[in-house]
Amino acid sequence: MDTNRKITDEHKAANWDASTDVIVIGSGAAGLSAAIEARLAGASVMVFEKMPATGGNTRISDGGLSAPDNFMQKRLGVVDSPQLFHDDILQAGLGLNHPDLVAVFARHAAEAIDWIWSLGVRYTGRLDQFGGHSVPRTVTIKHNAGHKIIKALTTRCDQLGVPIHTRHTLARLVTGNSKRVTGVCLSCKTSASASTSDPKTDISAGRIRHIRADRAVVLATGGFGSDVAFRTCQAPRLDETIGTTNHQGATAEGLTAALKIHAMPLHLSWIQLGPWGCADETGYGKGARFASYSVFPAGILVDPATGSRIVNEWADRRQRSDAIQKTGHACIGIVDDQGAKKEYDSLRSCLKTSKVRQFDTLADLGAECNMPFGSLEQTVADYNLWTGQHRPDRFGKRPKKHTIPLDAPPFYAVRLWPKVHYTPGGLHIDTHARVMDLSHHPISGLFAAGEVTGGIHGAGRLGGCALTECIVFGRIAGQNAAAIPPGP
Ligand SMILES: Cc1cc2nc3c(=O)[nH]c(=O)nc-3n(C[C@H](O)[C@H](O)[C@H](O)COP(=O)(O)OP(=O)(O)OC[C@H]3O[C@@H](n4cnc5c(N)ncnc54)[C@H](O)[C@@H]3O)c2cc1C
Repeated sequence: MDTNRKITDEHKAANWDASTDVIVIGSGAAGLSAAIEARLAGASVMVFEKMPATGGNTRISDGGLSAPDNFMQKRLGVVDSPQLFHDDILQAGLGLNHPDLVAVFARHAAEAIDWIWSLGVRYTGRLDQFGGHSVPRTVTIKHNAGHKIIKALTTRCDQLGVPIHTRHTLARLVTGNSKRVTGVCLSCKTSASASTSDPKTDISAGRIRHIRADRAVVLATGGFGSDVAFRTCQAPRLDETIGTTNHQGATAEGLTAALKIHAMPLHLSWIQLGPWGCADETGYGKGARFASYSVFPAGILVDPATGSRIVNEWADRRQRSDAIQKTGHACIGIVDDQGAKKEYDSLRSCLKTSKVRQFDTLADLGAECNMPFGSLEQTVADYNLWTGQHRPDRFGKRPKKHTIPLDAPPFYAVRLWPKVHYTPGGLHIDTHARVMDLSHHPISGLFAAGEVTGGIHGAGRLGGCALTECIVFGRIAGQNAAAIPPGP
């Protein structure tokens, strides 16, 4: 089998359909950041994307970017540091994180936010503090529009003459005799669509294409949240009965192409669920956004069977998702009118579709959700008492400066059941974004960045830390891929 593979690769090496210095697989934040940096470093670059449209999960994301010492923190006088960010990430990751990667991420995260701004992306005036972060440090793209990142990055690729070929799926990484990755084997579904029509880089329609990478390949194929077979193999409890917020193309074939050439996998079974998954919608919709931006920051999470709170609503995603799953049924996120203010747009839309329901009194809300009589009123009274004090509650939740009681009717309720949201595990890379093999050596000619990699977030990721990380390591991967001397 191996001998056949070698003959095929050598044969193909003499029959490449096209060539370029750097090949990037995947057109999300990580891949496009890599493509831009590689091109700016003087390399010719081609991007391949399997879906009909660019952008992957980045396109549908909320556009929240976390970084210590970012411009918004400076404007608002929030004191933070790369060390505090690093420590928060390690705590959420249960210490499984690779500290060298986290240190690089923490050092360059704020630059990533500025870089995206320099490409034309604009932020809201808000600074959010999500669960597990010690201070507010998440800036958000205007209108929560992750697709603006993709627009900015594809526009820059266009300006730089980097073609992006959609409907091209990486089938296999091609290796040369020295085990160096020398190119890719792609399966093309229909006619190639590229943003340039340079005859040297244009590859026409067909079933299988072999493209040579004279310098390197950057793998940026994202996570595997939508790959039920692969994720169930890693974590059997996450079968098809558990929904996902991910786009349809978030599958594992890019990752497995690297595993087939002996790349080292990390933490594949640590799959993150989003605790704000709305039980009354598929995927990631307005219900989830309302829960994420209003309910968890300003409200409470209650088990309808008892009418009591079950967790620190500001804990990291893993702790909150575990708490809901432990009850065995959807739990109720509750917020009052004051707390709902931040997300009025989502609220209005969710009220129309009944994903969020409105109640004049807590008694009405409790009755509608079949909570034991009087239990919700008692829970909220206890919670409101705590908001005026300076001590942690029984879940370790500590009041913040602007913590508000739940006393401004109407009250809003949303049914929450976790969904697969993020896959922190993936390929082992070093701080230069080189993919490591099973003997802990870099695989020559292969780089990776973004959700296809593992090690940075360990057991679980903090909110807003994926996009920044994709940009930080995407840029590093692109710069280093372009710097590789051309192969023989
Ligand atoms: C609904 C939602 C909201 C989110 N909100 C935020 C947020 O606000 N802040 C934050 O930090 N994170 C957020 N995340 C997580 C974040 O969006 C992702 O982790 C990040 O976008 C991943 O970027 P990427 O470049 O690694 O992968 P992607 O953006 O997913 O891009 C990978 C691309 O590779 C393509 N691909 C896959 N396999 C192949 C193959 N074999 N051949 C060719 N192409 C292939 C895919 O189709 C895809 O287009 C959110 C995620 C979701 C699902």
